[in-house]
Amino acid sequence: LVSRKNKPEDTVVNIKGETVGDGNLHYVMGPCAVESYEQVAEVAKVVKSQGLKMLRGGAFKPRTSPYDFQGLGIEGLKILKQVADEFDLAVVSEIVSPADIEEACEYIDVIQIGARNMQNFELLKAAGSVQKPVLLKRGLAAQISEFINAAEYIISRGNENIILCERGIRTYEKATRNTLDISAVPILKQETHLPVLVDVTHSTGRRDLLLPTAKAAVAIGADGVMAEVHPDPAVALSDSQQQMDIPTFEKFMAELKKMNR
Ligand code: PEP
Ligand code: MN
Repeated sequence: LVSRKNKPEDTVVNIKGETVGDGNLHYVMGPCAVESYEQVAEVAKVVKSQGLKMLRGGAFKPRTSPYDFQGLGIEGLKILKQVADEFDLAVVSEIVSPADIEEACEYIDVIQIGARNMQNFELLKAAGSVQKPVLLKRGLAAQISEFINAAEYIISRGNENIILCERGIRTYEKATRNTLDISAVPILKQETHLPVLVDVTHSTGRRDLLLPTAKAAVAIGADGVMAEVHPDPAVALSDSQQQMDIPTFEKFMAELKKMNR
């Protein structure tokens, strides 16, 4: 059902008036994790002032180590919703358990399924059983065909509001956190009718590569870019090496807007 052969025209996912897949660029920006109301509000303010609509923030954090910050859970989603309502933004947040989907839908506008859960089939089926848009990230070591099949799990349950997100894959290269597979973008666009975003933060893991990889994403035809922004990355509870501070984010947006797409 996600195949372009089955449906030649692009799917457009409507997120509170933001139409992802319409040929324009769309941005999903915000902190790695929700830490506090003040932290989220500071980022939301600049996201809004840049004319953007989608605010990200993790409340359920699937951390590699059980001793790392695990996120604020439902409390975090409540903070996101409060801030998003104040700034008229849409919330994108990761859900890691099928049991949380129903309650989470009260607070969020897009269900993010993270790389570590791309093949959590019960989660995919649960996300397919609601009508909320789903942002599905490519698995850490997933082939494109496996990624497409994961989207098929969602759409086969009746939810076709799916956005794919390339976020880098694990290779032998250690200069970046993951290897951004930029050619996945046109392949996914050819083989499916779904919008495709590029997450430049988790793919590169390097602040100095966020802008060049975002430019590459725009040039190659991605429908948008995801990146992380934190008021003070040095004290961030997760991904402190790679989040942008607010002045850097403003420069990042100014450069991308020059690309005029
Ligand atoms: C995230 O976007 O918050 C995240 C954890 O990314 P990924 O699932 O791609 O690692
Ligand atoms: Mn992160």
